[in-house]
Amino acid sequence: MTGITIEPNRLLKDLYKLRSFGARGNGVVRPAFSDCDIAARKWLSERIKEAGLNPIFDPVGNLFGLPPGDGKCLLLGSHSDTQPEGGWLDGAYGVIAGLEVARAAVAAGGPAIAVVAFQDEEGRFGPLTGSRIWSGALPLADADKLTDTSGLSFAEARSSMAGLCEEAFVDPGRFTGFIEAHIEQGPVLDSHSETIGVVDSIVGIRSERYCIRGQQNHAGTTPMALRRDAFQGLVQFANEINKQFADIVTPATVWTIGHVTLHPNATSIVPGRVEFIVQWRDAEEERLDRMTAVMRDIAARTAESRGLEFERSAFSAIQPTQMDRRLMTRIEVAAEQLAAGNWRHMPSGALHDAANVSRLMPVAMLFVPSIGGVSHDFAEDTAAEHLVLGARVLATCIGA
Ligand SMILES: [Zn+2]
Repeated sequence: MTGITIEPNRLLKDLYKLRSFGARGNGVVRPAFSDCDIAARKWLSERIKEAGLNPIFDPVGNLFGLPPGDGKCLLLGSHSDTQPEGGWLDGAYGVIAGLEVARAAVAAGGPAIAVVAFQDEEGRFGPLTGSRIWSGALPLADADKLTDTSGLSFAEARSSMAGLCEEAFVDPGRFTGFIEAHIEQGPVLDSHSETIGVVDSIVGIRSERYCIRGQQNHAGTTPMALRRDAFQGLVQFANEINKQFADIVTPATVWTIGHVTLHPNATSIVPGRVEFIVQWRDAEEERLDRMTAVMRDIAARTAESRGLEFERSAFSAIQPTQMDRRLMTRIEVAAEQLAAGNWRHMPSGALHDAANVSRLMPVAMLFVPSIGGVSHDFAEDTAAEHLVLGARVLATCIGA
């Protein structure tokens, strides 16, 4: 057994306190760099100091809590910003669980543990902005030019924290690895009555924008056989990918056409143009490639059969991230000790800061159940006993 004992009441009390910054009913509205986000970060920095760690805001508002001395240590944490309509645990759980384990480790006489609350994971200025900059994937000068939907630049946003922030980034070389605890944000653990997920990979995400062009025309006078209806092209494309992906995918593979713009979008006009974005996610690079090829083939054949043009643009790819085997083993052993037979390996279908941090050091993640699988919604919740169990698993695996 580990000698690191967390205090469940202190963990829950801090989670409830963090929830109060930007609280809306059961949920939270605390976007990156909003007044309540900055207030929450200041409060967190006080809690970090009280835990015997040194709080440091880096130039983009990522908040680190560093143990005394310059010895190497493990880093725990997640993010403390939320979606514009967010749940109270997404990100917050990993930050507070990390803080609880770090201060329990101080009380136990070691090992030294550092914590982090990344900034703008939820993408006000783009996906996972804070960890992307820290990991070197996004140069600060480029990040400064990013804007939110209101036109505010990242440079302006971070200047609102200028008085708090250091000029230098924290040296990633001082950390031996990163473990991010997080709510699952999906239904797998809850629907199987399991309590811990040991993440084996974070899925890769591909997306592609298509524009289908046909012939806009009169919806009363144009015979069906002569139409070049862009919307019907999209319907055929969507049906065909559903059919043909069945031979390629696993139950964890997902694909979505979530954004569609139809032109001119009028009742009595045969649509001449439709733009849409298709996104697909899987943990295996090779499967993502096969899906890409199948989709492009279907696009070409649909175009030919319906006299349409399919134009592709804005392909984007985020590679899948494999979790570190050594850190995973530590989480598995701790999960088996505290939740025997009641945990599973699983991929993360959502992107997390750990994916960026994996550029710098070994990373791993553990999940606790989301009730009903609901997240990015005010209703997001997790049973208190599962919040406590997740922190115990974290404490056990760092003590191992
Ligand atoms: Zn999150």
